[in-house]
Amino acid sequence: MDVEGIYKEAHALLEGHFILSSGNHSNRYLQSAKVLEDPKRASMLAEALAKLIQESGIEVNTVCAPALGGILAGYELARALNVRSIFVERKEGNMELRRGFEVKQGEKILICEDIITTGGSAMEAAKIIEELGATVVAFASLANRGFCQREGSDLKPKAECKLPNKVPFFALDDFAFEMFSPEECPLCKAGSQAIKPGSRNA
Ligand code: ZN
Repeated sequence: MDVEGIYKEAHALLEGHFILSSGNHSNRYLQSAKVLEDPKRASMLAEALAKLIQESGIEVNTVCAPALGGILAGYELARALNVRSIFVERKEGNMELRRGFEVKQGEKILICEDIITTGGSAMEAAKIIEELGATVVAFASLANRGFCQREGSDLKPKAECKLPNKVPFFALDDFAFEMFSPEECPLCKAGSQAIKPGSRNA
């Protein structure tokens, strides 16, 4: 599956000169919600991700996504795995399981995001789930930003990765872009102006 091609076609992978949320500059940017805009495309990607998880033999009872970014990917993945779909959300800064959602003691939970960068939100979700007595058996995202190591990839994890080594992480592809500090950015040096993708209709 040409995951990068699918993201480009959906205008979810932008090329140009961008300011990332870290403040660094890059010539590429993932606008990952855009790939889920078309429900058929979303379910096709989720089915490919589900296949990787099923082939690993890991048993999953429930998919849990951190709101807001993870909800659509988590829901589609749960549909593809034929399991329950729940989400956690932030209230006054802390992640909580609300809206009547419950988890059972020992229930096997997969934490799903649309994209994993350092895995910070995914780990916050995992912490809540484990405090409630369930077990986090895997992490998954459609796209891996290249800080953490997904199953089957040679790309080594970076120090910023917050996901635990001993729990498998499944993703469809690595999107490990080059990043530059604003002072060292070759695009800036060439005279181009960086933009924040969130602030325009890409
Ligand atoms: Zn720049």
